[in-house]
Amino acid sequence: MRYGALEAGGTKMVCAIGDETGRIYEQISIPTTTPEETMPKIIEYFKMKEQEGHIDAIGVAAFGPVDVKPESPTYGSILDTPKLPWRNFSILNALKESFPIPIGLDTDVNGSCLGEMTYGSAKGLDSVMYITIGTGIGAGIAIGGKLVHGMLHPEAGHILVAPVAGDEKHCICPYHKNCLEGLAAGPSIEKRWGEKAANLVNRTEVWELESEYLAEAIVNFILTVSPQRIILGGGVMHQEQLFSLIRRKVVEKMNGYIRTPEMEDMDCYIVPASLHDDQGIMGCIRLAELALQQET
Ligand SMILES: [Zn+2]
Repeated sequence: MRYGALEAGGTKMVCAIGDETGRIYEQISIPTTTPEETMPKIIEYFKMKEQEGHIDAIGVAAFGPVDVKPESPTYGSILDTPKLPWRNFSILNALKESFPIPIGLDTDVNGSCLGEMTYGSAKGLDSVMYITIGTGIGAGIAIGGKLVHGMLHPEAGHILVAPVAGDEKHCICPYHKNCLEGLAAGPSIEKRWGEKAANLVNRTEVWELESEYLAEAIVNFILTVSPQRIILGGGVMHQEQLFSLIRRKVVEKMNGYIRTPEMEDMDCYIVPASLHDDQGIMGCIRLAELALQQET
């Protein structure tokens, strides 16, 4: 089979062609500006690729909040986003008008979670959490092999965390006084320390604080979701020193409360994204495959 993949991000749209093995034949990146400007470029790309060979289905993993309920009249629409031109815009309908083939859709982080479960470090597991820590923080969750949507879809990046003493005024989320994204995403690090995360590698206090917030959130996720593995991706997690700090703090904060083989083996439990930052686009390939299976 030949699948189209669209990882629709707030800053760029990654379009790719691949197959069910997760192999990506090629991919391009288009800046996310307005739907009027960006969508025709995406459609043009897939039209061009269609001329080279039939595309069986397309998978889309979109920035949110996005309506991921197939039974909803606004299924496939971006909802109440601060990116105003995209508010109430249906990415799904725009694609459907040009491509009468099965199209699967989910959130960007659920896409990455699915990518890791199908092709990466969560292969064979059915309850997994994928957390991205970058310009924002978000989490994709699968329980019992199914990606979680629930009422809307999880927005786990905005869970409330206790501010560390002396850091009470540093949350930059416009909605919350002390949420994980507002305290620990890339822009928050940059605002607090006056430098981009990538330029702060040798400042141990930066990573001590960052790992404190992430570990606190992860303990809450473990206690609530009970994932078999937690995968941490996104730009901030390219700071590899964070992993050992986070694992140690999770063990400390858990304080022996949960005893499972997974909790005894933190190096295998909390792991980096494994697909060279292609987990999102590879998840789209799997979403396309699932959409095709559902319609045939
Ligand atoms: Zn928030």
